[in-house]
Amino acid sequence: MERCDVLVVGGGLVGCAAAWHLAAAGASVTVVDAADFGLGASGQNAGSLHFQIERRFLEQGDALARQAEQTIALSRMAIDDWKGLEVALGADLHVVMDGGFMVADTPEQVAMLERKVERELREGLRMRLLDGDEARAIAPYLSPSILAAGYAPDEGHADSRAIVPAYADAARRAGARLISRTRLDRLQRVTGGFEAGAGDLSIRAGQVLAAAGAWTPQICALANLHAPLYPVALLMNVTERSRTLEVPHLVQHVGRRLSMKQTGAGNILIGGGWPSRLARTGDGGFDPGVRPELIADSLSGNLRAAIDTVPAVAGLNLIRSWTGVTAVSADQLPVVGEVPRMPGFWIAGGGSAFTLGPTFARLVAQAMGGIPAPELAFVSPARFEHLNSFMG
Ligand SMILES: Cc1cc2nc3c(=O)[nH]c(=O)nc-3n(C[C@H](O)[C@H](O)[C@H](O)COP(=O)(O)OP(=O)(O)OC[C@H]3O[C@@H](n4cnc5c(N)ncnc54)[C@H](O)[C@@H]3O)c2cc1C
Repeated sequence: MERCDVLVVGGGLVGCAAAWHLAAAGASVTVVDAADFGLGASGQNAGSLHFQIERRFLEQGDALARQAEQTIALSRMAIDDWKGLEVALGADLHVVMDGGFMVADTPEQVAMLERKVERELREGLRMRLLDGDEARAIAPYLSPSILAAGYAPDEGHADSRAIVPAYADAARRAGARLISRTRLDRLQRVTGGFEAGAGDLSIRAGQVLAAAGAWTPQICALANLHAPLYPVALLMNVTERSRTLEVPHLVQHVGRRLSMKQTGAGNILIGGGWPSRLARTGDGGFDPGVRPELIADSLSGNLRAAIDTVPAVAGLNLIRSWTGVTAVSADQLPVVGEVPRMPGFWIAGGGSAFTLGPTFARLVAQAMGGIPAPELAFVSPARFEHLNSFMG
């Protein structure tokens, strides 16, 4: 039986980042991942660092938009975290934070943008509302059809393939033990902590952090708990390198699913939340472990939105499309904190955890070390405690 202070389940961005902070603070930490580290959503995503309120919060009415306002406090911390991350980890993450636009091309969308920017300014996010000409003065590649844009000078992007290896290396250097290709299949509460295992491996841990992305509900189920996180399958596309088109900013759309950015090599990454089709298990559930099926209408819809927003992208060849699985919670906010009815059992998942993951991993590690993190109160699993009132 191995022993550690904290067992982290899941070696994506969130698990590896939390392990690094915990180990650096002196805890003995073991991280297990079912596959190789970073092959989940953390290594498949669009790499957007988006700090403006996300479109998905705006399209469901005012109540959700008001709720999303609360994420701005986390976003403001995430801006600082990302600005210092390459130095802190001693790694090149290709972080570019040269600004981001969220554009509008109808009067209704402009009104939505105005309300959004008002909320953001009220919560202290650095933001400007620009008209179409002002936006094109900074970003001449934008279509003449763009009527207005929210401009966040701190937005940008980073390399999703670099982040997990960098956190994993830092965690190892800080003393954490990282075990890959080990799918946790048992977990139970015992006096003074938890016993967990996978095959021949048995681990006794004082605390457990379930950071398994779309698989977090399965980890919680091992402990007889519900976690209101659901797998969603998304689409990503990348073009060939462009020698002429320069898109130095993150580009999103307030009324359409779109995110665009250019890599250092010149390729344009195009995504923004277009769906793919999740695989099914034999008994009819969704299987996040199988690559989702690409939906042709998503592909054409995504590329159409890209061309309408940045017309010059039409001259580039698409070289690859892929699908990936991430987790969304019942209220779209992240779920981060200790499960009230099972002290010592923590969850960190959901939300846009490329952008916010470094921040909520840092805060949850701090809280697990006994230093309260009041910034996480609004994302605590406590808001879903009713689901577990018959469990545990
Ligand atoms: C296509 C796509 C585009 C996205 N774009 C963005 C974006 O631009 N910006 C943004 O902020 N967010 C984006 N996201 C979301 C973001 O990628 C995720 O929120 C984030 O990576 C989640 O990290 P994680 O560490 O929680 O989970 P993951 O990276 O999914 O890691 C979970 C890990 O748990 C492991 N695991 C599963 N079951 C077990 C088990 N039983 N035992 C042990 N280990 C287990 C898995 O192998 C996996 O490595 C995107 C997601 C997708 C799919």
